[in-house]
Amino acid sequence: MSDKYLPERSLKAVWHPCTQMKQHEALPLIGIARGERVWLYGHDGKRYLDAIGSWWVNLFGHANPRINAAIRDQLDRLEHVMLAGFTHEPVVELSERLAKLMSGRLGHCFYSSDGASAVEIALKMSFHYWHNHGHPKKNRFVSLRNGYHGETLGALSVTDVALFRDAYSPLLRDSRHVATPDWRYAAEGESARDYAVRAADALETHLAQYHAETAALIVEPLVQGAAGMGMYHPAYLKRARTICDDYQVHLIADEIAVGFGRTGTLFACEQADIVADLLCLGKGLTAGYLPLSVVMTTDRVYQAFYHDSVAQGFLHSHTHAGNALACGAALATLDIFEQDKIIDANRAKARYLNHAAGPISSHPKVKNFRNCGMIWAFEVDTSDRAFAAKFFEAALKQELSLRPLGNTVYFMPPYVIDEQEMDWLVEGTLRAMDTY
Ligand SMILES: *Cc1c(COP(=O)(O)O)cnc(C)c1O
Repeated sequence: MSDKYLPERSLKAVWHPCTQMKQHEALPLIGIARGERVWLYGHDGKRYLDAIGSWWVNLFGHANPRINAAIRDQLDRLEHVMLAGFTHEPVVELSERLAKLMSGRLGHCFYSSDGASAVEIALKMSFHYWHNHGHPKKNRFVSLRNGYHGETLGALSVTDVALFRDAYSPLLRDSRHVATPDWRYAAEGESARDYAVRAADALETHLAQYHAETAALIVEPLVQGAAGMGMYHPAYLKRARTICDDYQVHLIADEIAVGFGRTGTLFACEQADIVADLLCLGKGLTAGYLPLSVVMTTDRVYQAFYHDSVAQGFLHSHTHAGNALACGAALATLDIFEQDKIIDANRAKARYLNHAAGPISSHPKVKNFRNCGMIWAFEVDTSDRAFAAKFFEAALKQELSLRPLGNTVYFMPPYVIDEQEMDWLVEGTLRAMDTY
């Protein structure tokens, strides 16, 4: 089994996600042999800086010794047990610690394995809550233009990314998308804050008319990831919270991508000083190690299901919900946040990268250079429809893993990136821009 043939074997046997397989006739597929910190090491002898955290999940680098040790330790005790009728220490401790981080206001944790499943859970739970309260007509959802919540059918129904959605539209439930607060859509001279408030007005207009049939609003707090890292002012969330309360509609915060420090605070909702009714977490929950997601909710939602009748309970399940190894990785992740004061450390790193990235933001082909916490993004002014694929390839030549969304290039590096590596990232990106 020669490693040299790994990409070819993969293209024959593995159907890769989010990929038109035919494009790999021309595009390289990179076999990765191992990872260490921010680096991925290929079978081709090259290394790549994982500048997008392996699809936004990796927080503390590859092969992190502390997370590795925690998983090994858990492995020797219990790898998995079903969470119906049984429980285990890591899942209890994780739930208690997460609840504490929410000051106890979201004290009930419902687990699944991936982000889309968490979104399905939040949608079903919201609907079922209203149903149990005698409001079965509240069975619609409202979401934001350019929102992304995953690709299973329910999650795709509240997603507004044409490329992922259009082919499946006959399968999707009709869902309303209201104005996005993304400041790139602000009018000339309008501040990000004013635009966010104006977008919230559109939400209010919608709910004034449709609240009786609406169960929940679902949003990606502060950064709309998959549609191109659209960033917005927290004033939107603040107003959305009030509007949802006024119209008896749940607020679902999908922090699957933005949770765990990505926006500069541990959770994005903190910046608006709000608490959602249902909070979805995934991706960084295990620092990118293992599939685990959770929906956290209030006592109020929980109590609506607590009843003598079985059917009034939340009968949803995923086989690997609350997997013990994954919970072990999540606990080690929370330890690192605390012990290394990651949120503070990231602030200094963000300052450094913002400064270092000066030549990108002033590059003649770059528009809308923006930053939120540990996320950076900009649009490249080009009419080349193959830009994303060409740039990906040009970046690989600079030993960078960068996968643009359309003509939006973004960085979501692991938090362990150091100053030298940030300089490397900027310089390589500039060279890729000149050579793609
Ligand atoms: C990635 C993502 C999801 C889906 O998570 P999966 O683990 O890929 O199913 C949902 N919502 C947001 C905001 C995401 O970024």
